[in-house]
Amino acid sequence: MGKRILAILGSTGSIGRQALEVVRQHPDLFEIDLLTANNNSRLLVEQALEFDANNVVICNPDKYREVSDALDSSLVKTFCGMDSVCDLVSGDTVDMVLTAMVGFSGLRSTVAAIEAGKPIALANKETLVAAGGIVMKLAEDKNVPVLPVDSEHSAIFQCLQGSNGAPVRKIHLTASGGPFRTWTKEQLEKATRKEALKHPNWKMGEKITIDSATMMNKGLEIIEAKWLFGVSPEKINVVVHPESIIHSMVEYADGAVIAQLGHPDMKEPIQYALGYPARLELDNRKLDFASLGSLSFHAPDFDRFPALRIAYESIRRGGNMPCVMNAANEIAVAAFLREKIGFYDICDTVEYCIEHVPFIAEPCLEDIFSSNDEAAAIAAEYIRQNL
Ligand code: MG
Repeated sequence: MGKRILAILGSTGSIGRQALEVVRQHPDLFEIDLLTANNNSRLLVEQALEFDANNVVICNPDKYREVSDALDSSLVKTFCGMDSVCDLVSGDTVDMVLTAMVGFSGLRSTVAAIEAGKPIALANKETLVAAGGIVMKLAEDKNVPVLPVDSEHSAIFQCLQGSNGAPVRKIHLTASGGPFRTWTKEQLEKATRKEALKHPNWKMGEKITIDSATMMNKGLEIIEAKWLFGVSPEKINVVVHPESIIHSMVEYADGAVIAQLGHPDMKEPIQYALGYPARLELDNRKLDFASLGSLSFHAPDFDRFPALRIAYESIRRGGNMPCVMNAANEIAVAAFLREKIGFYDICDTVEYCIEHVPFIAEPCLEDIFSSNDEAAAIAAEYIRQNL
């Protein structure tokens, strides 16, 4: 492959840092044009200098001065705020955009990058949950590839390679089950922030780790898979696989199932998206089947983990409801992380919002932004008054 010049949105987060590890292993294949961060000014400056970025954006205006002073004597240009992110991802020098910001905040810049015709390595699943129909239609119109970085979706994408367009009978979306896989409902009611943040297999950012504990993450991933691969939710089967070795599977008409396997390590799906269609050398742990011994599988428990049921329900209703679900979940997870609400209050808040935000059957992008704001406000109010 020829050299690719990257914009990494959310470079100081877990995915952003691991993407830069991939870049560090392949200096001949990648160059950095743009790095963006929300708050972590110190790491952003360090990354900009190491990778010789042309531009950085710090989204938090309070941190702008600190970043621009630190980069003053370098060639790196410093900008501030989301408008700058949207401008700079569209720049001529960018070949590919990795979207790794947290939550709904990733939508605007992803849309700007697609508008500008930039291939997307998508790590920000909330973009597709909130506005999948709009984003994928735009990508199709602009002939822009949207390459999954989420490990399950990268697995599905890899399992689809070489299928010659054969119809998919089923997607088996694997879930680790998170830290509470074996907990009872009574135990879950009292689950703490600290317990929820202890994911058994994956080291990730806080928001997604809580989503994994509630299994809302899997709910968001069902919606993400629907849009990325154009499959109806009834064809997406969630299977709990505690070892997280099989990252997902595709079943074809003849019953043949193709799986993608590896140790849980996000650098693998990141390199696949950044290098696609090439596969790059990766300095990671390789599988040793004899020492693995066995792999296990279970059906998910919709009673202990209502988020899965809520997610299926929100897709069934469609329109702006997945966006509402996502917005309420973001507010509730933030409240749980501040130890303001309990574990099951997260799902209660989401359900309350789904019932109380007006339904829009065919939302445009503006409707999505207003539904997000409305759901966030209702969720915050529900938490303030009831929890
Ligand atoms: Mg995932």
